[in-house]
Amino acid sequence: MSVATNTEGSEKRSLNFIEQKVEKDLAEGKNGGRIQTRFPPEPNGYLHIGHAKAIALDFGIARRYGGTCNLRFDDTNPTKEDTEFIESIEQDIKWLGYQWNHVFYASDYFQELWDFAVWLIQQGRAYVDEQSAEVIAQQKGTTTQPGTNSPFRDRPVEESLRLFEFMNSGQATPGTLVLRAKIDMAHPNMLFRDPLLYRVLNIPHLRTGSRWNAYPMYDFTHGQSDYLEGVTHSLCTLEFVEHRPLYDLFVTWMKEWKGETADIEDNRPRQTEFNKLNLNYILLSKRNLRALVADGLVSGWDDPRMPTICGFRRRGYSPESIQKFIDKIGYTTYDALNEMALLESAVRDDLNCRSTRVSAVLRPVHVIITNYPEGQTEELVAINNPELRDAEGNTITEGNTHTITFSRDIWIERDDFQEEAEKKFMRMAPGKEVRLKNAYIVMCTGCKKDAEGHIEEIYCTYDPESRSGMPGADRKIKGKTLHWVSCDHAIKAEVRLYDRLWKVENPRDELVRLQDEEGLDYAEARARMLNPDNLTVLTDCYVEEFAAQMPALSYLQFQRIGYFNVDPDSTPEHPVFNRTVGLKDTWR
Ligand code: ATP
Ligand code: MG
Repeated sequence: MSVATNTEGSEKRSLNFIEQKVEKDLAEGKNGGRIQTRFPPEPNGYLHIGHAKAIALDFGIARRYGGTCNLRFDDTNPTKEDTEFIESIEQDIKWLGYQWNHVFYASDYFQELWDFAVWLIQQGRAYVDEQSAEVIAQQKGTTTQPGTNSPFRDRPVEESLRLFEFMNSGQATPGTLVLRAKIDMAHPNMLFRDPLLYRVLNIPHLRTGSRWNAYPMYDFTHGQSDYLEGVTHSLCTLEFVEHRPLYDLFVTWMKEWKGETADIEDNRPRQTEFNKLNLNYILLSKRNLRALVADGLVSGWDDPRMPTICGFRRRGYSPESIQKFIDKIGYTTYDALNEMALLESAVRDDLNCRSTRVSAVLRPVHVIITNYPEGQTEELVAINNPELRDAEGNTITEGNTHTITFSRDIWIERDDFQEEAEKKFMRMAPGKEVRLKNAYIVMCTGCKKDAEGHIEEIYCTYDPESRSGMPGADRKIKGKTLHWVSCDHAIKAEVRLYDRLWKVENPRDELVRLQDEEGLDYAEARARMLNPDNLTVLTDCYVEEFAAQMPALSYLQFQRIGYFNVDPDSTPEHPVFNRTVGLKDTWR
């Protein structure tokens, strides 16, 4: 692989195959040296992490080579489209750190596409078919057998023109009439066997209202939209490889229609395909995500268990962590299943540098420091982010600390105490010393249990000479450093622990298998795959005051527990946190 400098700065890395192609095209002077891409979502759902991979490529190529990237809503199917989706898509692209030049809509070209289709009919290259979808499918043939011509294939041009008008009149019944290209019913590429160009929907469109009742098909829209906008590189996923010859043919025909026969191979968009993002334990595809929302299995598109961009945002992923992950997996020409563990390691790396450290006790038990005066408190200093370093590598303290209140009564994690400690247990146990983070070394002296044997209170004494930061306070002890919060100063909080939504590694294939091989319906198959423990809500947690005051979406690390994010439902009186990811990889 070659290495090139780029406009992003001094960072050098090997080029992916698409960048190599772009550089070759530039070197050959294609499209007059222009680079123009587009990101073409259908506004029928929220963006998911797979889209982030396409966005990073479409916008990234334009950014890297000084070109432009436009946002184009591929709004050719009014049945499922909504402005809610348009707004969310725009918000998510911006959040990921990208900005388009223009917003276009495929529907901007409906008139031009219509005129073009009329010309094709006049040229004898398209005809209106009156057969049902089933009959048309039967006539398609197979990869080894040619198809059969429709009886309407050679109908007079005037008849097709009249029927095409009728298709758009609002009077035609959907499914009774379609416009087809007249190409070759024996073509080795099945898509060339007289593909459908227009269908009747009779559904008002978000942007064009009831102007149109006949709508162009994807294949008859995408390439021409690219061409009309001046796109040079049309990047899409591998399932479109077979569509590329058709894409090229329609662009060629359109150039002919425009009278550009002299330069038919110049100034045209070229399609290049890359592999879709596919992650284990995750089900992408909007159809499935929409069903999860509609069936109430998640709280909405932005439920932190959803693989949507807004779900990841609410879960506590930073845009940079998603970008890092995408940079790591790269772009190839074959399908793969990427590891969720890789995405989580990218978010851990990123949040390690980004997150504010706070103390939170998720499963509390009461500790009394018996030699600490009742009613006394101390404001101790806690570092917000130890990864903030100056040029010499020293931790920056200026503006990077907050205070945490210490007192005689504190909460620690239940798991951090054992009455009869195993040999290797280095946390709190009778007769052992541990350090309380940012505070003192304490020695456990015993505990009190209720009638059932549950620990009610733990007793400790503290060493007043051991406060963190005091000269000589750092004497070595065997025990670990534990986090804690003061009972009278901590705020009660709700903490939502998310786990994988699916318990099977490849839900996409398993969903198909359960339906095809075991005869389950969609809902049954899905229910079989759902992880029953995908959400645990803890309502009896305590966080330090500083954490309770953090605004929504703040990136936090609950020390020794994991990365957490402030949920938009949070208020200072009732803070709510989402677990983004634990501190360690738990997938293996
Ligand atoms: P889905 O199948 O999830 O509904 P889609 O392909 O219908 O997705 P579009 O809105 O049509 O979604 O896609 C917009 C762009 O995002 C397309 O260029 C598409 O190829 C790309 N894209 C969609 N899913 C992925 C994915 N998993 N990985 C990479 N790119 C994707
Ligand atoms: Mg699509």
